[in-house]
Amino acid sequence: MEQEIHITLRFNLAIGKVGLNEIIYRLKELRDSLMLRILEQILIGYDDLISERLSQTKIYPSKARKGLGRHLRKGDPEGRFCRGRKARRKGYRKYTRKISTVFGALKLRIRTVECFKCGARYSPLLSALQIGQYSRKEMNFEHEIVEAVIDTNYRRLIDGRSIDISLGGIHNIVVGSDIDKTFQEPVSVDDLSGIAADGTGVNEHRGRKGELRNVIGITKAGRVEPLGCFTNTTWPEIERIVKERIKEAEPYNIPFIYDGEPGLDDFLADVAEGQRCTWHGPRGLYHALWEDGLKKKDSQPETDKIKQLIGIELPEGDFEILKEEDKHQVKVKYESSKSEIKELIKTFYEKGYTRGASYLGKLSDRLFTNIELWLKTGVIAPKTISLLERVFREIGRRLKRIAWGWSDKAVTNISKMIMIRQYSRDKWEEYWKEKLGIKGYFNIQIEAVELS
Ligand SMILES: [Zn+2]
Repeated sequence: MEQEIHITLRFNLAIGKVGLNEIIYRLKELRDSLMLRILEQILIGYDDLISERLSQTKIYPSKARKGLGRHLRKGDPEGRFCRGRKARRKGYRKYTRKISTVFGALKLRIRTVECFKCGARYSPLLSALQIGQYSRKEMNFEHEIVEAVIDTNYRRLIDGRSIDISLGGIHNIVVGSDIDKTFQEPVSVDDLSGIAADGTGVNEHRGRKGELRNVIGITKAGRVEPLGCFTNTTWPEIERIVKERIKEAEPYNIPFIYDGEPGLDDFLADVAEGQRCTWHGPRGLYHALWEDGLKKKDSQPETDKIKQLIGIELPEGDFEILKEEDKHQVKVKYESSKSEIKELIKTFYEKGYTRGASYLGKLSDRLFTNIELWLKTGVIAPKTISLLERVFREIGRRLKRIAWGWSDKAVTNISKMIMIRQYSRDKWEEYWKEKLGIKGYFNIQIEAVELS
């Protein structure tokens, strides 16, 4: 059905005075309200068409009424649908329906009709629009809100328009999302070089402290593959769920690093915090030696030495993955550092620096375990860690800003949204297109814009 909308705009301009900036400024102001008015007219026209077809059954065969007039049978205890598709117009509802749209609040007059067959009164436009009986917002609006929340600039989105949505309203959008039931398809282990996880604290409902845990895969190309977000879930449970998603016939052997793993806990926790130095060995050693009774001037040479030894140089580059040809060099440096540290520990014991020796022992164990793992898997430590750090910091920062006081489900959902949008942008776009149901049933173009 083709129709036209005629728009009349009236403007005044001060000849010889107005500049381009002012013209554009005013047009920009007009943009959303113009779209709202157009939308309103389209809906009024649509409502007329529908009620016309439902009431004029002599003119319109049942084929022309296909998909229209679906309603619940009046007084049916089981809430079944009525088969009647003939209705008479009954005017408009007393109150206009307010629907939040991307252009602002739409005030929609709702026409009611009465079914000839069962006598039920209903609004055929609402079901035709597929927005549900009580819906107060449309999906594009939800999309924009979610995007804005992820970017933590939703205030700006709302303030500029007559959109009225509270933090609670945003929470409900996030909780109501089906994101938890999507993006579950199996991941192939062949593409992964490692799995990593980390947790961050969140302030939940009624001041309850919660723990959000995120699991990501690191692909062989060094990209992030979101694997799951969990709130207040134990590590073994998370590991079980994640491993279930990785369905492989062959047993696989990739490292699963999480901050609950013995030996890695401190390490990842430190990194995730981001403020302390990742390689905090020298300072820790200084402290341990101080406990052994050494003054700073005496411990300085030792801590400097450690600084050098643990600063195993890794090849430069953006790749998070260690290339085969670089492995050898790293390995050689690592082996020599390892023996020097072991030597140093021995010396410490001989000199009676027991605290220093035991600190260094623990530090080197952790260090060596990690480096060996990375050499084996090809994932470079600092780069991988900085990648992880970035991922978790991004999520943590956003959660602190928006998810304060949220429920488990909301926190889980929003962090999953953040992850997917950030690291699987194409899948994210696909997901929304599917949700919006863009199928080519509505087209509009500008026919003519002329000065009259
Ligand atoms: Zn009926």
